[in-house]
Amino acid sequence: MPELPEVETTLRGIEPWLVNRTIRAIEVRDSRLRWPVPDAVGKAVGQQVLSLQRRAKYMLINLANGCLLIHLGMSGSMRVLAGDTDQHEQEKHAPGKHDHFDILVDGCTIRFNDPRRFGCFLWLENPAMEHPLLAALGPEPLSDEFSGKYLYQRSQGRKLAVKNFIMDGKVVVGVGNIYASEALYMAGIHPLRAAGKISIARYEGLESAIRDVLARAIRQGGTTLRDFTSSDGSPGYFAQELLVYGRAGQDCFQCGAKIRQKVIGQRSSYYCINCQH
Ligand code: ZN
Repeated sequence: MPELPEVETTLRGIEPWLVNRTIRAIEVRDSRLRWPVPDAVGKAVGQQVLSLQRRAKYMLINLANGCLLIHLGMSGSMRVLAGDTDQHEQEKHAPGKHDHFDILVDGCTIRFNDPRRFGCFLWLENPAMEHPLLAALGPEPLSDEFSGKYLYQRSQGRKLAVKNFIMDGKVVVGVGNIYASEALYMAGIHPLRAAGKISIARYEGLESAIRDVLARAIRQGGTTLRDFTSSDGSPGYFAQELLVYGRAGQDCFQCGAKIRQKVIGQRSSYYCINCQH
């Protein structure tokens, strides 16, 4: 599933192809995504793209009269098909079964592929940030708003497991299951510890672990950016070096004990009982 780093990598991949260009057409081949793609996405046609922006796992294409919002869902990916009008190019780029919509600008087509169709493509009127999907989101984990002190304050009186706490998008956005496991391991915090029973100093360690793991993933993703211009459909996801996630039964890198796996909040969690308290 695309997580924050994959979304950021996707955004950076398509950004240079869209900014300052005019949207010539939008072709929706199948509108049955998580929510039906509204006809209103057509309001973008003829508009110049001002900027691209990521908020949580949403990608926003900002225009003067509103905004196109895209979410990759469980299995979505985007790619850039260079060349737009030449017949030969069109044949080479015949859409596949799961290529649900295209955004056409001068010089390229941005194509959205999503086999499981949990992604979305919506039109938002300005101010886009007041849209219900965006308004209640917590701070970005790589922003100045996010801090150990903030996590500590938000956690007071909360009895839920810290792993579920940091995966709550109202607390902080973009900390998916893999990154939550990794960050808690790096910070030495047991994933089942009650969120309200963690000191401010330990939350400061967790804050920097979350920043580190996400920033590292984005850096690794950057090396795959060239894939966005290939037409072979390779998505921008990337295998990451993981310290604990997916390593059940293998030796902990720090102490050698066997890594354990447990389902917490319906998601698999991985941790070391020696290193995490
Ligand atoms: Zn260990």
